Amino acid sequence: MKLQCASCLLRMASCHFKGPLAARPQLMSICDICLQAGQPAREFANPAIAALAEVQLVTFVGTKATVGAASVAKTSRVSRVRCYRKQYESFLHAFDHSELAMKQIPRQRLNQAVLASERGELPVPDLTRSLNEQLAQLGLAVTFQLNEVSYLTRAQIRMKYHHRCQYCGRRGDSIDHMDPVSRSHNNTLANLTLACHECNRTKGDMPYAFFCRLNAKLSPINQQLVAYEQTLTALKSKLQAQRQALAAEVHLHGVIQSPSLNQQRQVNKQLQDVLDSLQSDYEVLCQQRRDYLVTSWQLAQAQERGDII
Ligand SMILES: [Zn+2]
Ligand SMILES: [Zn+2]
Repeated sequence: MKLQCASCLLRMASCHFKGPLAARPQLMSICDICLQAGQPAREFANPAIAALAEVQLVTFVGTKATVGAASVAKTSRVSRVRCYRKQYESFLHAFDHSELAMKQIPRQRLNQAVLASERGELPVPDLTRSLNEQLAQLGLAVTFQLNEVSYLTRAQIRMKYHHRCQYCGRRGDSIDHMDPVSRSHNNTLANLTLACHECNRTKGDMPYAFFCRLNAKLSPINQQLVAYEQTLTALKSKLQAQRQALAAEVHLHGVIQSPSLNQQRQVNKQLQDVLDSLQSDYEVLCQQRRDYLVTSWQLAQAQERGDII
């Protein structure tokens, strides 16, 4: 899903609009690059993201006002940034689609490079070149060749594990290097497993044994997540089927209002409410799990460095 930043007007993947790790998931009115450049998300209005946040039951960081002196005054400053940043859009899209690049380069580091490039301290990525070369222009090195896993191998691994994440048990299609790419360049089948997007991203640089040890402690939570995922999937398809049946009924009889139709609508609405509330509980649980894993890893690294005893 692509969203538009209220500050630089770039259309980017929704991951650019998730707030920094907080107790509750957030969606911001502006992208993470603008945020990192010091733009105040709270001062920008973004009706589309505000509506999305409402549907997803997450906090929206931005202003509700769509007109007013503040937003008009901001326009001149904003438009300068806009024309600059446009040229980074397809570069950022390519980056967001590259699992390998995302694994090797932290988002903050990428944003820093884009901002430095905007200020003229680094060249602008040349879009006629490959992503690898564009990243190199910004001083960001990614090893693509060493870790390339062929389509055939990917398909084999997905089949082998029946599209199940081998860490949490939810549906998963991401090929995961057990020993992370940053630690080894082992591309053999023995080092490849299947993970869900979330486990894959959260595991990041963690050594395999370390992640497995933490994950084992989370086994009751993982079971809950699997149960949530199954319920949510079943509810979603039920609701979709009921909505289609309702639409067919309206079409067939040519009437929009009738007691039985209204009753069906009422049922669908209740189902949607249940779905929303489950989805929100599920996301909170996901967030807690991620926080636990990431914090434990940060702690372990700090101990290793001798920052804490
Ligand atoms: Zn932006
Ligand atoms: Zn998983």
